[in-house]
Amino acid sequence: MNISENIKEFYSELPQNVTLVAVSKTKPVSDLMEAYNAGQRIFGENKIQEMAGKWQEMPKDIQWHMIGHVQRNKVKYMAPFVSLVHAVDSLKLLKEINKEAKKNDRTINCLLQIKIAEEDSKFGMDEADAADLLASEEIKKFQNIKIVGLMGMATFTDDEEQVKSEFQHLKQIYDKFKTKNPDLNILSMGMSGDYKIAIENGSNMVRVGSAIFGERNYNE
Ligand SMILES: *Cc1c(COP(=O)(O)O)cnc(C)c1O
Repeated sequence: MNISENIKEFYSELPQNVTLVAVSKTKPVSDLMEAYNAGQRIFGENKIQEMAGKWQEMPKDIQWHMIGHVQRNKVKYMAPFVSLVHAVDSLKLLKEINKEAKKNDRTINCLLQIKIAEEDSKFGMDEADAADLLASEEIKKFQNIKIVGLMGMATFTDDEEQVKSEFQHLKQIYDKFKTKNPDLNILSMGMSGDYKIAIENGSNMVRVGSAIFGERNYNE
């Protein structure tokens, strides 16, 4: 696996409006540095403490994205530096992120995770709950967070038509929400196995791990 060649290939292939998040979970800092030296500055991790450790060790011009499910009691470890939280799925979690962001005198950008997959295991809110959250009075009081888009994961399947229809569904929700919430600008969908379908269907941020860094020993 040649990480720096993979990074360069992605940049030659991806449309200009699509942001590449290099998903480096479980990978050693030496692998991340190879991507960094090839020009990559956005990394995605799914465990807060692992991300915090890498943040401490690595150059400070990196943007760290938390792409995994967030436990509220760990928000404090990422609040000083995280640049985007992809998988927000409750008002309670937003409240905690707002509180910790405030302590650090920051505003933390967040995406709402919408459940589009068939599998029960995927986290996320349904459309109605997300709409209610965006329109709620509570959210307006949170001065230290900003909802800047939506994130979703398709079902893990070889059935491309199903993946496509799930991504189209999320794009429709995104377009609908955008009419009332013009701050929404990010649609995070697509991983190594399905990023092409995601981009064809409106994604502007892809989260790619194994296609850059190689297979992981364990999966999350
Ligand atoms: C691990 C992970 C990815 C990247 O997966 P790959 O298949 O290795 O590209 C993307 N998004 C989330 C939420 C993940 O947990």
